[in-house]
Amino acid sequence: MARETTFEIAIVGAGMGGLASALALAKAGHTKITVYEMASDLGFVGAGIQLAPNMARILDQLGCWKKIADEAVQCADTSIREGSTNKELGHVDLGYVEKTYGYPHMVGHRSSLAGSMYEACQKEKGVTFKFRSTISNVKFVPKPSFKVTPRDGDPYIVECDILLGCDGVKSNTRVAMLQELEETADVVDSGQAAYRIMLTRDQMKNDPELLALIEADTVTRWIGEKRHIIAYPISNKQIYNISTAQPDTNFAEAPSATYTTRGSKSAMMQVYGDYCPMIHRMLDLVPEGEVCEWKLRVHSPLSTWVYGSMALVGDACHPTLPHLAQGAAQAIEDAAVLGVTLSPKRIADRKTESINKALKVYEKVRKQRAEALVELAAENGRSMHLGAGKAKEERDKIFAALKTGKGPVPDKWADADVQRMIYGHDCVAEAEKACQEEGLSAKL
Ligand SMILES: Cc1cc2nc3c(=O)[nH]c(=O)nc-3n(C[C@H](O)[C@H](O)[C@H](O)COP(=O)(O)OP(=O)(O)OC[C@H]3O[C@@H](n4cnc5c(N)ncnc54)[C@H](O)[C@@H]3O)c2cc1C
Repeated sequence: MARETTFEIAIVGAGMGGLASALALAKAGHTKITVYEMASDLGFVGAGIQLAPNMARILDQLGCWKKIADEAVQCADTSIREGSTNKELGHVDLGYVEKTYGYPHMVGHRSSLAGSMYEACQKEKGVTFKFRSTISNVKFVPKPSFKVTPRDGDPYIVECDILLGCDGVKSNTRVAMLQELEETADVVDSGQAAYRIMLTRDQMKNDPELLALIEADTVTRWIGEKRHIIAYPISNKQIYNISTAQPDTNFAEAPSATYTTRGSKSAMMQVYGDYCPMIHRMLDLVPEGEVCEWKLRVHSPLSTWVYGSMALVGDACHPTLPHLAQGAAQAIEDAAVLGVTLSPKRIADRKTESINKALKVYEKVRKQRAEALVELAAENGRSMHLGAGKAKEERDKIFAALKTGKGPVPDKWADADVQRMIYGHDCVAEAEKACQEEGLSAKL
């Protein structure tokens, strides 16, 4: 059968999932990919991010890992501590990760991750970016179409062969799909919010305890009842990135479209009031007005991620709590799988049925895994946030056993069996296998 190789692909959102999807599809041979982003640049990139080996493997295959790795910090170990005393509960050496999975566990700056994927996209002739362009009125029949409202121009309608909704946790494309299906996705208010803070080496340098933190290659988590702080150095140890999770009682009534708001420093100091003096000194270094607070939202699993020639990607279909540090990694796995199933060599023609078949294979490879990790992240939060009682005593006994080198790590992020399941998964190989099974073999 003759193959039509030019497909008009529209991607809504230039976040982690949108950038990776554009790159994966361009590398697969697509030549007409347009990314629509409502922000005037790459959006919110002002924070650190953990770069897990399953993410690194894909970015390496897509040719943009080296630069990210050069700017990132390799984690030697992780230390889980009691927030109120700074007493170490558990310590895990992460040196084995690189030997086992081919990539170390690294931490970096979001702008480095997003910027490198963007740069790699710009080198592909087939990818065009339209910033300052908001998408609405998504329709599905006979082909996907939507309205683009540029900030500085007149609105226009776009029709495409394939539409990818990479528009994050407040996804418009998800809302449109659910309306079409006459379904709802219950938003689950996790009751949690996160402060995100970055301190410079200069701010920390006169305090020996704080300086030791930025100089170590350690991811440190300080846990307490209903809240924790996780922190690590990024940008060649010039910045100490701090991210927290706590009840969202201080969260502004009307947060922005992205669930972010300016946090109050005094409220933050109060929330962590019973943490140890070193943490107080650390948080106190944050200038008033530089506390960014995020509301952490998830929703119940969707019945499907795919409708006709449209698919959802990343937080649009599997928003997660950050307690496994896998949200962006999973969005990037989505993209890598789309690069395989939507390869122009595999899709017979531009008909909805042919595209839908490829998207269904994407869903088959990705949905169960991503949703399992969303659940595991929530479970990890519950375990880290235990207050006094039997469950906490049991958890702390398991932490204590670690000192003799035995047993699971209660912080699942650092547990070897969980890491095997997350880091050991080669989603590209899985996608190729599924394509064979579903009769989507590549034709030259
Ligand atoms: C506190 C915290 C810490 C985290 N830490 C980690 C970590 O260490 N490691 C990790 O892997 N993940 C982490 N995550 C998760 C990760 O940030 C997200 O899962 C990831 O950014 C999701 O990518 P996305 O592309 O799906 O959505 P986003 O990155 O949110 O991108 C969506 C994009 O779509 C655009 N958009 C939305 N609507 C429209 C529209 N109508 N028209 C045009 N454009 C639109 C937005 O402007 C945005 O740029 C963390 C999350 C939080 C909250």
